[in-house]
Amino acid sequence: MREVRIRDTLSGEPRAIEADEEGVVGIYACGPTVYSRIHIGNARPFVVFSLLRRFLESEGYAARLVVNVTDVNDKIYVAARSAGVPSAEFAREMTQAYFADTDRLGLGRPDAEPLATETIEGIVALIYELVEGGHAYEAGGDVYFRVRSFDGYGKLSNRRTEEMDQGEEAGSASLKEDPLDFALWKASKEGEDTSWDSPWGRGRPAWHIECSVMAEEELGESFAVHGGGADLVFPHHENEIAQSEAAGRRFARLWMHNGMVETGAEKMSKSEGNIFQLSEALDRYGREAVVLFLISGHYRQPLAFGPEQMEQAVAQVERLRNFFRTHQLGAPGTSEVDPGARRELFLDALADDFNTPRALAQVFELVGDANREEVPGAAEAVRDMLGVLGLDSIAEVDAAADAAAEALLAEREEARAAKDFERADAIRAELAARGWEVRDSSAGATLVPLAARG
Ligand SMILES: [Zn+2]
Repeated sequence: MREVRIRDTLSGEPRAIEADEEGVVGIYACGPTVYSRIHIGNARPFVVFSLLRRFLESEGYAARLVVNVTDVNDKIYVAARSAGVPSAEFAREMTQAYFADTDRLGLGRPDAEPLATETIEGIVALIYELVEGGHAYEAGGDVYFRVRSFDGYGKLSNRRTEEMDQGEEAGSASLKEDPLDFALWKASKEGEDTSWDSPWGRGRPAWHIECSVMAEEELGESFAVHGGGADLVFPHHENEIAQSEAAGRRFARLWMHNGMVETGAEKMSKSEGNIFQLSEALDRYGREAVVLFLISGHYRQPLAFGPEQMEQAVAQVERLRNFFRTHQLGAPGTSEVDPGARRELFLDALADDFNTPRALAQVFELVGDANREEVPGAAEAVRDMLGVLGLDSIAEVDAAADAAAEALLAEREEARAAKDFERADAIRAELAARGWEVRDSSAGATLVPLAARG
């Protein structure tokens, strides 16, 4: 079992992931607010934290991943109203769509996916505790967190208080003791059709509080890793720390943030209207290329998204699939290259701040070696490495269909040699119908799968 080190946003240092007393590595990652279909940018934390769990499990850790769903929110009220449906119904539909879209990534589900609307009791209890402790106060049916009552405020985002803007609606400013304070509970307003009773009247939770409650309910008062997009460091995660620590919890022992997915210079965020839906990307490029693209850069760096990057990912999947077409499992070899050593370097890269590009480089190095000389065990090692990344399906090439296509290709060569070009063209069409492109070169004709992106 390797020590897995992650650069901790709070300390700014690489730190080892540590299991709790029961031997569980608890990972909490902030999930989507379901007011529309999710875009490729939302898929990045889903993929990064799903694969972190998968890697930890392959190393022998017992990992538990929790990803929440924010299903009550201002944006959901607005979207439901313009769709002309009750907000609860709208949120339910969008939650199902989120499950369906992320299922298609083929990485399994998180171990728990709590909904905000099903966590109300715990949310009210924590807010009550904060009010009792003097860290929160009721004003006009809302409840606000008293930021200056918590000494550690700002330690995650390293901002000075003058630079802090909670980004809350202007209407709440008059109710706050201090502009720095943020909402825990909001009184029901006209047109908001989802609400609950509370000690402060009818209302609904504000955003940040749900994560403090869900993380504790699912993983305990202290857990190994809290993750999410870098755009959540302030105010969302700063506020989670304030809520939980002010209530005496240890909370997350390590903070891990992924960079944003960008199109051109603009950040990909739904509110900016620059949308590329995950389902659309999956339709167009296939799950393997989408997953490979999302781990092609280091998780902490921004990731440029566009047709060019996706074509590159598709080409890499094709390269891997072609490798499995030509390198059978169990094939003997004479090369000195040691696939096991490559595999160790691959795992070391993942253990070193989850460096997926460095890990992928080991996969492609071994593929390159095996394409030059017969490396015994190369196919197994490549398949094992891809398995850690949820991509071993690439190894499942259809050998029977491949053999039939190769036989047709040989027949076409014979037809061409006999100058029967009509027959040769008919075979080319037949191969295209079966998903193969024939590429002629001075070295002879080869088959390239057309369906690799499917
Ligand atoms: Zn959160």
